[in-house]
Amino acid sequence: MATGHLTIDLDAVASNWRALDRLSGAGVETGAVVKANGYGLGADRVARALANAGARKFFVAAAEEGAEIRQALGRGPEILVFSGHMPGDTDMIGDLDLIPMLNSVDQLTRHLEALPGRRFGIQLDTGMNRLGMEPGEWAAVAQIALAAGPHLVMSHLACADEPDHPMNASQLAAFHEMTDGIDVPRSLSATGGLLLGADYHFDVTRPGIGLYGGLPYTDATPVARISLPVIQTREIADGETVGYGNSWTADGPARIATVAAGYADGLHRALSNNCTLYHEGTACPIAGRVSMDMIGVDITHLNGTPQMLDILCPEQGVDALAEAADTIGYEILTSLAARYRRTWLGGLAQ
Ligand SMILES: *Cc1c(COP(=O)(O)O)cnc(C)c1O
Repeated sequence: MATGHLTIDLDAVASNWRALDRLSGAGVETGAVVKANGYGLGADRVARALANAGARKFFVAAAEEGAEIRQALGRGPEILVFSGHMPGDTDMIGDLDLIPMLNSVDQLTRHLEALPGRRFGIQLDTGMNRLGMEPGEWAAVAQIALAAGPHLVMSHLACADEPDHPMNASQLAAFHEMTDGIDVPRSLSATGGLLLGADYHFDVTRPGIGLYGGLPYTDATPVARISLPVIQTREIADGETVGYGNSWTADGPARIATVAAGYADGLHRALSNNCTLYHEGTACPIAGRVSMDMIGVDITHLNGTPQMLDILCPEQGVDALAEAADTIGYEILTSLAARYRRTWLGGLAQ
């Protein structure tokens, strides 16, 4: 089999959720963000594992993703949609009992007219300028919105992964200003905000990346492993080159393994000559450019020929791989393409 193996530890996802739930503190509900196919790791299985761990609020980016989560979880758990109530979403929201986080007066009007009496939330913009009603807009419609009984009022932090960034306190103050005194549960924090402490927790936290083993949650249990089958090995002589563009040259006799994965599998081309794979803890550097389906690896120093080499493993987590590719863990996980043979471990009811 010449495809990479992606192994996803659902017990690790559940244990990360439990740890973040403890950090959220007593009286605060910890939701779970499962957008973008559960950060690339399989939204249906991840959501079921999280539901078994105790999560009851699931956040997605779009109604279509909410439909998949509803299918996986059945009736009961709440599914909240960050993009709100878009044209064309009404049937899905109504039939599948999704909760749109309304972002504008247009969305509020659409929702109250199309699905009167059905649950909704409100998203407020506290300075990120991405989604949500601005202070003036909110002031104009708050009375109408509050009379219809929103389920949750939320905002999102732009710089929560930098604890000392003044934007955090400024958005916190803006959120208080816009929501103090209203009798609706409030939510401000994703993983980064959750780690900023209790002032940022309000009633509901919304961790995503921390569940999947990524920064800024440094204590996360690793969730994903990627092992790549070795298709072929060869001995090369001093001065020979490997791969497109001759970008790697042997400085002595060398042994090269060609493994089955490349940039089409989300292993970015920026990893060319700039990353290591691992065989039972021994580092083996990438030799040459990452091509679409293959990567050359220098295994000169190994005894014998491994069947597989790991590129995502305890020795090199999501964020180490991201750093080598000059990106962030979020992008590494959500870039993992369809081609992997995926295996999910654990995740049973407990
Ligand atoms: C993606 C997202 C989250 C989760 O963020 P993480 O940094 O992955 O924890 C929470 N809230 C909103 C609005 C988001 O877009």
